[in-house]
Amino acid sequence: MTAQNRQQLAACVRLLHMEGLLTYNGHVSMRVPGADALLIHSLVDSRAEVAPDRLLTVDFDGKVLDGPADCRPPSEYPIHAEIYRARADVGAVAHIHSEHAIAFTLVEGITLRAMRCDGLNWAAGVPVHPDPTRIRCAAQGAALAATLGNGDAALMRAHGAVLAAASIIEVFKTCVQFEENARAQLLATQLGKLAPLTTAEIAALRESHPDAFRAHYARKIWRYYVTQGHSAGIIPESWLEALL
Ligand SMILES: [Zn+2]
Repeated sequence: MTAQNRQQLAACVRLLHMEGLLTYNGHVSMRVPGADALLIHSLVDSRAEVAPDRLLTVDFDGKVLDGPADCRPPSEYPIHAEIYRARADVGAVAHIHSEHAIAFTLVEGITLRAMRCDGLNWAAGVPVHPDPTRIRCAAQGAALAATLGNGDAALMRAHGAVLAAASIIEVFKTCVQFEENARAQLLATQLGKLAPLTTAEIAALRESHPDAFRAHYARKIWRYYVTQGHSAGIIPESWLEALL
């Protein structure tokens, strides 16, 4: 993987930590193009300080192909491996323990829906994977990938969420918007009867957000957070050229 790929992945992890979407747990990976392998950070390295030279290349069976000798991949790497195996369109995966979104796995009869104009992918509701245990093996990872289906988000009961996208910049955007959407639904619930976006409203919003705009928007969100992270001392100056 290129130095730019490595800086992108490290920056994504640091920025998701800055936003509270990753804590001491959770992980992000990037597919290694043309191979059954992925780039991921170490199980033990702080998400606040993930460094490009501390990343691991791991095959889909969990074998470490490259990386520092004192690093090992997160135990839940099958989340990533099995989604890449099932979805050729996915280039980046994030597993977060999103505080607001998890709440939607802990109640009966309430589904996380599209509440904001940038939550359109969740119009039909976000699926909840029923297995509350850590994803430790390929069979569990494959079951989670099946719950995700062709979507970009799935909740994991009493645990967290998994987000999938074509690139690191896209998956970062999805994580941020997923949490914003969950927070919006929780807040609206406090006020009264929920009125999620209707089918007609969603169609109109899709019409007004062409693909080219969506790609531009992901980059805009990424640049905003990279700049914020740089100002906060989280993103080194030397990474900016590759990130922006
Ligand atoms: Zn987890």
